Amino acid sequence: MRVTEIFHSIQGESTYAGWPCTFVRLTGCNLRCTYCDTAYAFVGGEELSIEEVAARVKRFGGRLLEITGGEPLLQPEIYPFSERMLNEGYRVMIETGGSLDISGLDPRIIRIMDLKTPGSGFEHANRWENLESLKSGDEVKFVICDRTDFDWASSVVRRHELTSRVTVLFSPEFERCRPGDLAGWVLDAGLEVRVQVQLHKYLWEPGVRGV
Ligand code: SF4
Repeated sequence: MRVTEIFHSIQGESTYAGWPCTFVRLTGCNLRCTYCDTAYAFVGGEELSIEEVAARVKRFGGRLLEITGGEPLLQPEIYPFSERMLNEGYRVMIETGGSLDISGLDPRIIRIMDLKTPGSGFEHANRWENLESLKSGDEVKFVICDRTDFDWASSVVRRHELTSRVTVLFSPEFERCRPGDLAGWVLDAGLEVRVQVQLHKYLWEPGVRGV
């Protein structure tokens, strides 16, 4: 597996925000979102065996594990790796950009899948067939850059009846959308979605890696 970093921190997003969590950040991404804050994971990294990654994860203790990137689905080793960690009793989450097929993932994995808004610059990359593979316990995340993104995301949520199937997260883009504005839009629209801030950006200094 090509790995950018393995670290223990506080989960910053999803309904698991606030919990201690070990992160495996894999190297490489097929997208280049305008707001990406992990561009350092696009290239480089270290080639590690599944056994080595598992051993490093275990050293941190804890039972919540997130596999992220970059785009973790680019690396086929995530299938045997995630299955191994699940069998060892870990709760495993995968955070994916939503452009690649999620249907082959072990059903015990919690999939946190982005749907890319127009503001990301990669709306065209959304793999809409993935919506058919979502299961209870998965979460769909929209990063909202502005009111245009909000209107687009609201329409997608309603058209696909997402809130009846999964938890839907609306996350204000850190530099382009005020959390209070997004909260007001959600309330005015009567949407049953969860507004979340990126907790890790409030806990740690901006630009610090490995958090
Ligand atoms: S999918 Fe994620 S890692 Fe890839 S460019 Fe977009 S925000 Fe960055």
